[in-house]
Amino acid sequence: MPLDCFTTPVPPDYLRDESRKNGSAIAIAFPKSAHELTAALKQTFSCGLPLTVQGSRTGIAAGAVPDGGLIINLSRMDAILGSGTDTGTAAPPTIRVQPGVSLVALRRHLTTAFPAHLFTPDPTETTASIGGMVACNASGACSFAYGPTRAHIEALTVVLADGDTLTLRRGHDKADGNRFSLTTDSGRLISGELPHIPMPTVKNSAGYWVKPDMDLLDLFIGSEGTLGILAEIELRLHAKPFQTLGILCFFAAEAHALACVQAIRSAASAALPHTLTAIEYFDADSLRFVRTGTAHAGLPLPPSKPGWNVALYLEWALASDATSPAALTSDILLACHGDPRNTWLAADASSLDKLKLFRHAVPEQVNAMIAERKRRLPDLTKLGTDFSVPDDILPEVIRLYRRDLAAAKLEHVIFGHIGDNHLHVNILPRDMTEYAIGKRLVRSWAERVVSWGGSVAGEHGIGRLKKELLAVMAGPEGLAGMRRLKATFDPTGRLNPGRLFD
Ligand SMILES: Cc1cc2nc3c(=O)[nH]c(=O)nc-3n(C[C@H](O)[C@H](O)[C@H](O)COP(=O)(O)OP(=O)(O)OC[C@H]3O[C@@H](n4cnc5c(N)ncnc54)[C@H](O)[C@@H]3O)c2cc1C
Repeated sequence: MPLDCFTTPVPPDYLRDESRKNGSAIAIAFPKSAHELTAALKQTFSCGLPLTVQGSRTGIAAGAVPDGGLIINLSRMDAILGSGTDTGTAAPPTIRVQPGVSLVALRRHLTTAFPAHLFTPDPTETTASIGGMVACNASGACSFAYGPTRAHIEALTVVLADGDTLTLRRGHDKADGNRFSLTTDSGRLISGELPHIPMPTVKNSAGYWVKPDMDLLDLFIGSEGTLGILAEIELRLHAKPFQTLGILCFFAAEAHALACVQAIRSAASAALPHTLTAIEYFDADSLRFVRTGTAHAGLPLPPSKPGWNVALYLEWALASDATSPAALTSDILLACHGDPRNTWLAADASSLDKLKLFRHAVPEQVNAMIAERKRRLPDLTKLGTDFSVPDDILPEVIRLYRRDLAAAKLEHVIFGHIGDNHLHVNILPRDMTEYAIGKRLVRSWAERVVSWGGSVAGEHGIGRLKKELLAVMAGPEGLAGMRRLKATFDPTGRLNPGRLFD
């Protein structure tokens, strides 16, 4: 790819992402192939300019927002390359894609190419690119049952800072205890010691993922483009359930919804072979917010009626034409002061899509409001938490959020992946004083969450906005280890500098 493929000036849209932070850059390139990508990296290696990697820019931690230098935007590397290498085994098939393929395009392709299979990670924002999802180890509702993106990656081609490439396959390229060595496609040896980084056992996407004897492709999954650029990805698909059943149920009080979460989590195994795939929460402020906003795009919304103050969305993957999961859910709702007759059920694709759009409307509405307030307050960014905690801490962490938000009188909504004890508190500051108060609150919560064994980033990553929180979780030694690891793969520090840590 000739250098003049970097165009300038950079169109303003490419200087921001969904965090609503604005950046600056000298020039941008849109490679269409791994070959063009490696050529661009090789040709610019000696220029000393920092390089920002972009997928679809739906990230909310400002990872794709440039801070000077060059941008490599991967949205035109959007080809589906075909089936993976190990078809014919009993395992579900795999599929190889370029990183710029969007989740929505992949799904469209699967409906015809693999109609009996799914790719389960689902950050609800379906314009997200597969490369961005792998780079952030994105999750979504059904990660409750199927795990984050990491659990569905079989192989990666990674372009390093100097344009050399690594081809990595799960099960083939492994660390030996804490030692690792990899040979690039040009024959260069990269070796080192895995750093000691605290790894919480909860849902976690904060910084590098490191474990003795690990599969080395896991170093790159969730590394947010700081170690290398993902140029080709092989995804493992999952067999489609016989049927999916979505249930939106309502409660008068948060405590009742919480009791339902705990009851259904412990009872779900009784419903096997059917799988409870998602438990999502919407607090009273979220429901009010989405009812009064425009992000629902005309969809029918839960009306305001007595007893419909907070909501849970439960999703079951049915293994057969069975009624037991619905009956189990009904019993639990009754026991938790819910009303099984006052629920919204979705059992076909179109109703499930509508419930998904409703769930998506909450963060969309938040982003729209931040964009609106930003016109008056240009330094405002989204102030959303991504903390996950162990099961037994869920009631305590909610009490902490409620107490502090009430004391600070901050406008907010709380929603998200309650099945994984992973709620998003989105603070909606009305001025920069509230923004500063909100930031201090989030930092203080991070300290508590870490002391409880939780993670400061369950799925959105750290990007440029949450470095202070990663420092709380990793500590000075963990951060120093991460810096050493980055220097092993990117000695000049040109790839996504200022993400994860300074
Ligand atoms: C309304 C809304 C709801 C959301 N809900 C969820 C949710 O439920 N769960 C969830 O996990 N996320 C959620 N997200 C966040 C976002 O969609 C995900 O983080 C997604 O994975 C980002 O993908 P992207 O292509 O937009 O990446 P970008 O925003 O472009 O980039 C994100 C990071 O990945 C790096 N990167 C991108 N592509 C590559 C590549 N090929 N190689 C190396 N590095 C790369 C970038 O440098 C950056 O650091 C939501 C976002 C929105 C706007």
